[in-house]
Amino acid sequence: MSVDIEAYEDVWVFVEQHDGVVAPVSWELLAKGRELADETGEDLVALVMGDGVSALAEAAVSRGADRALLADDPVFEPYRADPYGEQFRALVEERKPSIVLIGGSHTGRDFAGRVAVPAHAGLTADCTELDVDDEGLLLASRPTFGGDAMATIKCPAHRPQMATVRPGVFDAGDPTEPVTDPAAAVEEVDVVVAEEDTLSTVIERVVGDVVDITDADVVVAGGAGCEGNFAPIEELADALGGEVAATRAAVDEGWVEPARQVGQTGKTVRPQLYVAAGISGAVQHLEGMNDSDVVVAVNTDPNAPIFENADYGIVGDLHEVLPELTALVRAK
Ligand code: FAD
Repeated sequence: MSVDIEAYEDVWVFVEQHDGVVAPVSWELLAKGRELADETGEDLVALVMGDGVSALAEAAVSRGADRALLADDPVFEPYRADPYGEQFRALVEERKPSIVLIGGSHTGRDFAGRVAVPAHAGLTADCTELDVDDEGLLLASRPTFGGDAMATIKCPAHRPQMATVRPGVFDAGDPTEPVTDPAAAVEEVDVVVAEEDTLSTVIERVVGDVVDITDADVVVAGGAGCEGNFAPIEELADALGGEVAATRAAVDEGWVEPARQVGQTGKTVRPQLYVAAGISGAVQHLEGMNDSDVVVAVNTDPNAPIFENADYGIVGDLHEVLPELTALVRAK
């Protein structure tokens, strides 16, 4: 199916919210979307859906969007894939964005396909890098072949160019200059979905014990050097009010649940403090934590590559060093 490429313009970012709280990945995408829109010379447009969420559309403008589209209706609460997908699809068909970015969260992954398929657009899923080339085409990159290589996908012949993006890979930055009247840049769009047309009903929401290390300010990570004993890691994390994380080696051993793996095939974290204990510093691990503000490494091998990526290094046995650090923190 051919489309009139010239008719498509602007960079859209979906602003995901739950109970009125914006998912951090959406702010990350707005910051990245701003860069891309500046490069292509187009507008950055935020799309907000929910019930009573006009303040979030204004917040998106204050955080750098040129405009916000607001679909505000009870049909969008609680989240369901069919009303979200149908509303988004209709807006894409009508407004013709050139680039559409959606967080690679459970929500984004759930409905992005409902937008891409009717638009006959490709969807590059779980991207970890975004750029534009000289012609303004989106370059969407993601690990492939199990993480052995990076694939960069571009879409010269069709629009929109769509991507879901892994949470945590971009810096959300700070809100930009205060906008005097953000409401003036918010357009409330027609809601095209009616409750009676939706196929799903939410009977009950069950929130399990979901591990999310991506938002933690402090992460204490252990690797193969823990030799099956993660207690020193857990105790230091507890003392610092942080989250426990691990390398793939530790996850593969079954010492830690996969949701806590940091790295190319795990999560990307950018905490204020990252403690890496018994971790050699393989490039695949570094990829998930090298934007941490401060890195403290503990390793028995003074030549371990992790020390080249650490702000503070302690050469020593983690089973001795970490309990001492924990005691110091608890004593404060
Ligand atoms: P090791 O490399 O074995 O290092 C253990 C370290 O502990 C050593 O430096 C050692 O000196 C030190 N040590 C030993 N005993 C002690 C002690 N008592 N006290 C202190 N230090 C001690 N890895 C990830 O982490 N995340 C990923 O997402 C990921 N994705 C991958 C994707 C692909 C396609 C591939 C091929 C690999 C991937 N890996 C990933 C694996 C990665 O290459 C490394 O194998 C892994 O990170 C090594 O984990 P480690 O540092 O725990 O173990």
